[in-house]
Amino acid sequence: MDNAQLQYIRSQFPILDRTVYNRQLVYLDNTATSQTPRRVVESIDASYFHTKANVHRGVFSISQEATDLMEQTRLRVRDYINAASEQEIIFTRGTTEAINLVASSWGGAFLKDGDEIILTVMEHHANIVPWQLLQNRIGFKIKVVPINERGELDLDVYRSLFTEQTRLVSFTHVSNVLGTVNPVKEMARIAHSHGAVVVVDGAQAVPHMSVDVRDLGADFYAFSSHKMYGPTGVGILYGRKELLEAMPPYQGGGEMIAHVSFEGTTFADLPFKFEAGTPDFIDIAAFPRALDFIGETGMDAIAAHEQDLLDYATARMISEVPGVRIFGTAPHKSAVISFLLGEAHHYDTGMLLDKLGIAVRTGHHCAQPLMQALGVEGTVRASFAVYNTREEVDKFIDALIKVNSMLNRI
Ligand code: PMP
Repeated sequence: MDNAQLQYIRSQFPILDRTVYNRQLVYLDNTATSQTPRRVVESIDASYFHTKANVHRGVFSISQEATDLMEQTRLRVRDYINAASEQEIIFTRGTTEAINLVASSWGGAFLKDGDEIILTVMEHHANIVPWQLLQNRIGFKIKVVPINERGELDLDVYRSLFTEQTRLVSFTHVSNVLGTVNPVKEMARIAHSHGAVVVVDGAQAVPHMSVDVRDLGADFYAFSSHKMYGPTGVGILYGRKELLEAMPPYQGGGEMIAHVSFEGTTFADLPFKFEAGTPDFIDIAAFPRALDFIGETGMDAIAAHEQDLLDYATARMISEVPGVRIFGTAPHKSAVISFLLGEAHHYDTGMLLDKLGIAVRTGHHCAQPLMQALGVEGTVRASFAVYNTREEVDKFIDALIKVNSMLNRI
């Protein structure tokens, strides 16, 4: 990506101009949430100023306009991930709610005591705890795929975990800690050959690569708008229609019914059966502006630029930061670097970096089982997006060298 294009991209994100402790912000917590281009915020403004009316209910014009805007997003998302039908696109609050929906509705209806499901050790808590909550009620067994020293899933163990009782596998497409890109297609093929349903947590994949849910073979695929330059409060659950049709509603309320009486209630067709209550229709309506940004920039260009930043930052870290330990060295890795500076505590590193204007995440990254497997309490994590630059990587590494010398007296 040339400098002019990068500067044009950056100019769309006003937050990148702000300062922290009198230094220009270097934002490297894109895995937690990415920044939002002006056009998304302008779309939200425009909705509040011109088309705010509750969706799916009104006969009056602005209610219909608000409904159209929301439903256009559903069509955009359908095409974006190559779903077969817009009825397969359910709006949720985020990846977390999407996975809870699958666990509660599909799992609650189709899992029973004696069944088995397979997760992996690199899962975000959002793809562990919903299954445990259900397990407490039902009593099925959870099996866990381990990782190797590079932070890749051990596919031989994965294969060996399947039995006659395996009903479902649920795993992340990309690790939010290690950056590892998992071989979803192959894993889905194996699961399907055992008759298991495949749930994919796509929260860290969709912002960084093109995703075709049908090509991958995902039965369910979950992701969040706020991690892909979009507004907060919007998540997507893709589900194959025949599975969604067989599932009971997740929550009850307005919008999700066909007819209600005290003698009995019937439910709306897909996708509305799973969308009880007033949705976050203004943020949903703004989400396509984020997809426009991605489309205009080009997913290939985004991926290539992020790979360049990852390679550049990793090489400088290894050669110039004595004692650094990097967690996650898979060859197929997205632009996330989890690390520790010698024995220094991750919070100390993160706080000192903040004083130098660098925003990185510290802690367990909602992946405590993975931390346990790595033998650490937490890490520091720097993660990149398309608006980051090599100059920012330089500021980050220069700051890291300083912090390392303070904390480890090197
Ligand atoms: N899964 C993964 C892999 C994630 O990185 C995250 C966000 N950190 C989530 C799930 C949860 O996403 P959200 O908080 O948007 O629901």
